Order: sequence, then structure tokens, then C-alpha cells
Amino acid sequence: MTYAITSNCIGCQRCVSACPTAAIQKDGAQARIDVNRCNQCVGSFSVPQCWASCPTSHGCIEALAAATTDYWENWFTTYTHVVQRLNKTANPKYWNRWFDRYAAMVKRLQKERSVTP
Ligand code: SF4
Ligand code: SF4
Repeated sequence: MTYAITSNCIGCQRCVSACPTAAIQKDGAQARIDVNRCNQCVGSFSVPQCWASCPTSHGCIEALAAATTDYWENWFTTYTHVVQRLNKTANPKYWNRWFDRYAAMVKRLQKERSVTP
């Protein structure tokens, strides 16, 4: 799945220099990903560098998430992004435990919602 830049992009250009395949160009006030050059950073990094370097919540996300209006997909994209950033801060074990419990609670709530008539 390629990555896409959304309207939440603030044009900081961090992703432009972070991309290992030069797939990102400045496009007006925002950035744009050339899908023919993007290889999801496979072979270079363990996570897509545009996604990891973006300071916004939804500036750069998986194209699938960008194409959908599904609330929960977007919610989990933000959640994963926040967790990755918090893991880089001090005491990641504390945050891992906190988010594991939080994720379990969200899954339980989703399950309850899915069985509601
Ligand atoms: S996923 Fe990697 S290769 Fe693709 S645009 Fe983002 S930084 Fe570039
Ligand atoms: S890092 Fe995020 S906010 Fe900055 S130019 Fe790239 S997509 Fe836009």
C-alpha cells in the first residue's frame, strides 16, 4: 500500500528529505507523493519515513486510509502514529502498558458496537 498526503499537510517538507526514493515533491503549499516512485520504504526503513517524520496526525497516511471515510480506520491511523511517537519518549514501558490497556478497551467497545442490532 502506497502512502498519500492529505489536506492536513502543513507543508513543512520534512517528508521530502526523509523519503529514500525521492518520491515526494513540494506541490504548492503542500507535498505530493509520486505513487510510481514510492516503495513504502521497503528495504530502507522498517516504517515509512514520510509517515514517521510528519508532525501532523493525518498529514501523511496510507493511501487506503486517505481514500476511505471510515472513522475507525482513521482513528487507528492516528492512534498508531501517536503510539510510535510516545515510544520514542522516556519510559516507553509505561506507555506500552497504558496503550495496551487502552487498545483492549477500544477493541471491547468495537466488539460491543458490532453486535448491537
Ligand atoms: S512510504 Fe517511503 S518511499 Fe513512499 S513516499 Fe513515504 S518515505 Fe517515500
Ligand atoms: S511531513 Fe507531513 S506536514 Fe510536512 S510536508 Fe510532509 S506530509 Fe506535509
